[in-house]
Amino acid sequence: MGMSEVKRVAFVTGASRGIGRAVAERLAREGRHVVLVSRTAGPLNDLRASIEAAGGSASTVCCDVGDSAALTDAIAETARTLGRLDILVNNAGITRDGLMLRMSDEDFDEVIRVNLRSAFIACRAAARPMMSNRWGRIVNISSISGRIGRAAQVNYCAAKSGLIGMTKAIAKEFATKGITANVVAPGFIETDMTADLPEAIKEEARNITPMRRFGQVREIAAAVAYFASEDAGFVTGEVLAVAGGMGM
Ligand code: NDP
Repeated sequence: MGMSEVKRVAFVTGASRGIGRAVAERLAREGRHVVLVSRTAGPLNDLRASIEAAGGSASTVCCDVGDSAALTDAIAETARTLGRLDILVNNAGITRDGLMLRMSDEDFDEVIRVNLRSAFIACRAAARPMMSNRWGRIVNISSISGRIGRAAQVNYCAAKSGLIGMTKAIAKEFATKGITANVVAPGFIETDMTADLPEAIKEEARNITPMRRFGQVREIAAAVAYFASEDAGFVTGEVLAVAGGMGM
């Protein structure tokens, strides 16, 4: 089998809905086997069925990415059972917004654990199987907030900004090993995460976005698919904002 015919395996966290789901669907459409990861089995099984119905291939893993041992095991098990791990998309994320003066240590730590530490754990675990094929694509989902800051999100901005620095460090460590690491930084995207924002905040979000609209999950998936592609092999340590011009 030539390299172009290899069925690449992609591990996508936070695949049960929103951006992660769109990423998983897109990578599956491109012929990758997609490992769907989140804490809830129901939506993962539904997504797997729908990917398979469309002729794609997927499997599911129920795992809290905040649990370092569980996440490490899930990645090792994926590489063992599927024989390879080529693409890692660290997308799972949460918010615990609040003004800094009232933010608890717990709300700070939890956001760092789920949004930042999990990506470190996953990259560390995935690097071995990627190195053994001398091919890997790491894509970390940050946020435009990690670049420009946002009031009431010191925890989230710290995590998302941290992802950018971490990704660049990984990109340098693995640059000669065939493994790239890049960041997609979405602006305001229509998902569950933004659905419950008060209308006044949504209005403000549109106003600070030059394109005056929210982005769609498929627009983020397209950027992830590029970084994950064969074509992007000379691109590493980059941050691509998909944000309607916000933060340019
Ligand atoms: P959603 O809230 O719609 O989905 C979050 C996903 O993450 C779900 O699949 C959820 O699955 C999973 N998840 C959350 N916590 C954990 C955990 N501890 N372990 C495993 N999975 C977990 O979010 P979005 O799709 O909007 O966001 C996806 C990513 O994009 C996040 O990192 C977010 O910060 C980022 N982003 C989003 C923006 C937006 O405007 N929507 C803007 C900028 C960045 P489950 O609950 O089943 O575990």
